[in-house]
Amino acid sequence: MSQEHHGTRRVGQVKEVTSLANPIIKDIKALANKKDRDETKSFMAEGLKLVIDALELGFEIKTLVYAKNVKDKPQVVQVATKTVARGGLVLEVSEKVLSSITRRDNPQMVVGIFTQRWTNLRDIKPKTGETYIALDRVRDPGNLGTIIRTADAAGASGVILVGESTDPFSMETVRATMGSVFAVPLVKTSVADFLGWKKTAGVQIVATHLAGAVDYRTIDYKKKPVVLLMGNEQSGLPEELAREADALARIPQTGRADSLNLAIATGIMLFEARRHLLTLDERG
Ligand code: SAM
Repeated sequence: MSQEHHGTRRVGQVKEVTSLANPIIKDIKALANKKDRDETKSFMAEGLKLVIDALELGFEIKTLVYAKNVKDKPQVVQVATKTVARGGLVLEVSEKVLSSITRRDNPQMVVGIFTQRWTNLRDIKPKTGETYIALDRVRDPGNLGTIIRTADAAGASGVILVGESTDPFSMETVRATMGSVFAVPLVKTSVADFLGWKKTAGVQIVATHLAGAVDYRTIDYKKKPVVLLMGNEQSGLPEELAREADALARIPQTGRADSLNLAIATGIMLFEARRHLLTLDERG
């Protein structure tokens, strides 16, 4: 039986939504605001591949939204069935509704709303061969997304956000991660808790600093699990963090630029720190 309510029609376990004023759509659109993401502990990921990956990795799906014109695609039917089986809501919508949810003219045809997943710093017990990235007050959503994606590609074990940081679950960051947001453990912590954790974690902190005295290629990254500590985009690493580092590393530069972009510097450090662990045949 079908039911009309605020432009919602129930078709089996799928709701068909046509109206932009529908309250469920309004709630989904509100996820563009950090306040609403924090309150509902959820976030949006766009694209069928990302939704499939997230379901595979056991992320809790709250709502699946797809465009009516892809409803018969086997993979869409599969993710819709999984969503229903896991107690999620499935919405079949017009392209206009998808555009307004994703704020894009050419939206992805499938969007998932998932529960955020955070890891506690105290649960991180670094082991030999592991590399973590700690970011001091990262500001730029694109930088953070790129770093999460690069961390995933280099086989890092987690990204630790130290201090007031941009939200890894914002739409812009999630987009830039290209799905790696589901694969890389994320931690949020304060400077004090980070320094407290460092005392007993058995790690070496390699901090990057424009005034660093050590060439990043001369450091021994094998002796202990490594935490690469990266400074804020504008002000660099503050003294209270820099003085706690086991090494202050610098990437040599020439040319006119004062510094490298944070995500680029993180990538260079990561692949150097994990050079001995990465081979071309790793993926088989
Ligand atoms: N004005 C800032 C400063 O004085 O530190 C520039 C910060 S830079 C854009 C952001 C971060 O990227 C730095 O804090 C550092 O962690 C890393 N970084 C950038 N270029 C680097 C280099 N050549 N060597 C080591 N770290 C670098």
